[in-house]
Amino acid sequence: MAATNIHPEFHRFLGREDKERLLDQQGVVLWLYGLSGSGKSTIANLAERALSQEGRFTTILDGDNLRSGLNRNLGFSDDDRSENIRRNAEVAKLFAEQGIITFVSVITPRRDLRALARGIIGEDFREVFVKAGYATCAERDPKGLYARAEAGQIEQFTGRDSGFEEPGDEAELVLDTDTHDAEECARILLDHLSGPSGS
Ligand code: ADP
Repeated sequence: MAATNIHPEFHRFLGREDKERLLDQQGVVLWLYGLSGSGKSTIANLAERALSQEGRFTTILDGDNLRSGLNRNLGFSDDDRSENIRRNAEVAKLFAEQGIITFVSVITPRRDLRALARGIIGEDFREVFVKAGYATCAERDPKGLYARAEAGQIEQFTGRDSGFEEPGDEAELVLDTDTHDAEECARILLDHLSGPSGS
């Protein structure tokens, strides 16, 4: 049951505009999603470093890191995946509201989960599909997860036992890491960020 004794405070606090003026930038959420090993973290890391060198203030919310703390009570059932995304989106929204350029690197395997994140974050949300085939990801296997999944040691592994829905035209940007190297993908992402629909 919803609590009746909670009174959110917004109007008394220093506003978003003040934070953005201080940082001389606008908050945004770049929601990178795709299979494990598709390149989300690598691309976010490259883009973050480039922005940092230009004096931009950024952060990366990494799905694995969040699962080891804030979300450590969640697994990979449908309900837990939804709750995982809801919490990550709420945190990303808080960061963006402080004027921070926020990269999110989370598998987000279903369209309804991306829609959930978009609904929470609103107009700051940029949906970025990091695209790579299952075979490519299994070959890269940076965390050894594909080998373990093939050996039957991981349940509900995304792309194998648990589905991954590719986007239709709702993705603002598709980074195909089968055909572009990581530096190219980071550059495309940064160009998108500084373009007309970006900052
Ligand atoms: P994710 O965060 O999606 O799980 P990671 O970024 O951790 O994936 O791992 C992707 C792996 O694939 C890294 O070892 C990276 O060096 C490699 N890789 C190869 N080509 C690309 C590319 N075009 N973009 C991003 N990563 C790539």
